Amino acid sequence: MCGIVGYIGKERAIPKILNSLKFLEYRGYDSSGIAYVKNNKVNIIKEVGKIKALENILDINIDSKIGLGHTRWATHGGPSVKNSHPHKVGKFTVVHNGIIENYLEIKNELLKNNIEFKSDTDTEVIPALLDFYYRSDKNILSVIKKTINRIKGSYAVGIICEDDINHLYAFRCGSPLIVAKDDSGYYIASDVPAILSFTNKYIILEENEIAVLESNRCEFYNLNLNKIKKEIKVFEGTYETIMLNGYDHYMLKEIHEEGKVFLDTLNYYVKDNSFKDTMINLKKYKRIHIVGCGSAYYVGLIGEYLISEFANIEVTCEVASEYRYKKVFYNDSTLVIIISQSGETADSLAALRMAKENHVDTLAIVNVVGSSISREADYTLYVKAGPEIAVATTKAFLAQATLLSLLAIKLSGKLELLKELNGIENKIEYLLNLDYRDYAKEIYNHDNVFYIGRLIDYALCQEGALKLKETSYINALAISSGELKHGTISLINDNTRVVGICTKKEIMSKTISNLKEIKSRGAYVIFITNEDIEDDFYDKKIIIPKVHDIIEPILTVIPLQLIAYNVAKYRGCDIDKPRNLAKSVTVE
Ligand code: GLU
Repeated sequence: MCGIVGYIGKERAIPKILNSLKFLEYRGYDSSGIAYVKNNKVNIIKEVGKIKALENILDINIDSKIGLGHTRWATHGGPSVKNSHPHKVGKFTVVHNGIIENYLEIKNELLKNNIEFKSDTDTEVIPALLDFYYRSDKNILSVIKKTINRIKGSYAVGIICEDDINHLYAFRCGSPLIVAKDDSGYYIASDVPAILSFTNKYIILEENEIAVLESNRCEFYNLNLNKIKKEIKVFEGTYETIMLNGYDHYMLKEIHEEGKVFLDTLNYYVKDNSFKDTMINLKKYKRIHIVGCGSAYYVGLIGEYLISEFANIEVTCEVASEYRYKKVFYNDSTLVIIISQSGETADSLAALRMAKENHVDTLAIVNVVGSSISREADYTLYVKAGPEIAVATTKAFLAQATLLSLLAIKLSGKLELLKELNGIENKIEYLLNLDYRDYAKEIYNHDNVFYIGRLIDYALCQEGALKLKETSYINALAISSGELKHGTISLINDNTRVVGICTKKEIMSKTISNLKEIKSRGAYVIFITNEDIEDDFYDKKIIIPKVHDIIEPILTVIPLQLIAYNVAKYRGCDIDKPRNLAKSVTVE
């Protein structure tokens, strides 16, 4: 998931490397670092968190014409300055993307040779091996070959040797790496977006090929150290086209990643219908407060229903900006769960700190590894949504809802429910492939849309209405069905569009009665349900595949997301960057 960049040429390396690292941010990372050469010595600056944090401690005016940069996504050793790349052993400084599977064996061997290790990473064995072989063989290419023959796993590696600061070396196997060229010099990078602000000319490094870059030339070798010729490719698109991977918008692309996101989140916590060690034990808590903002609050409501229903625990869910200012009651068995995609949401972070000040245990459910909320909470459960670029959250919501289902199962002790999650990805794919344009056409030129439902369906109504508001700027209102007749029904007429959601048999007849009241007042009704009911209280319906209640919300949210997307598209809205909104709300 992390990224590598490197530069050697006529211009200053540090600004170029920082620029390229920023274009790799979408891959996700927890820390970053840079190596550069000053007075013939390699200097390393690294920091945990965002690249901005690295930038703050870096003097970008340093006049180094060679450098390496890295964004790390920790696999071995937690996110920390010590474990961040670049790693230097003796003469060799290295950035690495991937995993060295046999690192322990190599490390133990090198420890016997009195080589010191400073980090907990698997990566550090690479510069250690390079330096070890270099003691008896001063041919760097041959040293690289010996190192490649010793390590197993996946790797893309960039190297600077302090004895040879006019060259930058790179090799790869399993993890991607390209070499690129502009008028000023040569680059290495994990992918094309990283170099597009400098050049569109690049060369793909194949498995076990080695690149030797100089300021004004570059050579390639195979593992026998024979020189090879490589084809220069020209990328014709833009940064946007490469990142969108054929989709019109990030929102659509991210919705279409939901099957994978579900599986990634499930497989991170569950194997063979049992929980792995990654799922923590929270048995001692008898009262849970879930806190979030926006969609994270709505997914929290889903969590409230699932946990109280299945685990029989008292759960309340609150909006963070209210929670932090109201009188809250804690006791010894209270757990505060903070949900935030970015892990940086200001009000949620403040709510977390408030709980901590009251000595209450806290659990973060976040997507961004190493974010403030995950660092400050007592426990963290990551959702595996991957980087989300569209401002309106979709796949992260689905991942959070999946995780809350898992948490409800864990807390309930009813582990047999885990098997109900098998095969859900196929049902997700089915829903992703339906055509939602006809539903969107009924909505897009209307000013008011109501979403009605009860209990967990009401939580989904709130998320559906928010998605429509934020992407299409239509006034959408979620109402708990039973509340309609207490006022809002006065707004219903033949110009009103209503989305009715009912996925629970026990309350089906109640919600249907409310939809009949609406229909008889002339509204156009789209009914979303998992029962195939033929009746005249709706104009169009969407049937959700029937699954166990513990996992049902993640299916129902998909049509809501895709209807909102299609409505926004018909209205010509700036779907990925709606007006007045920011992806990560770091102000109160
Ligand atoms: N396995 C290495 C580490 O944990 C590299 C991880 C990455 O690809 O960022 O440091």
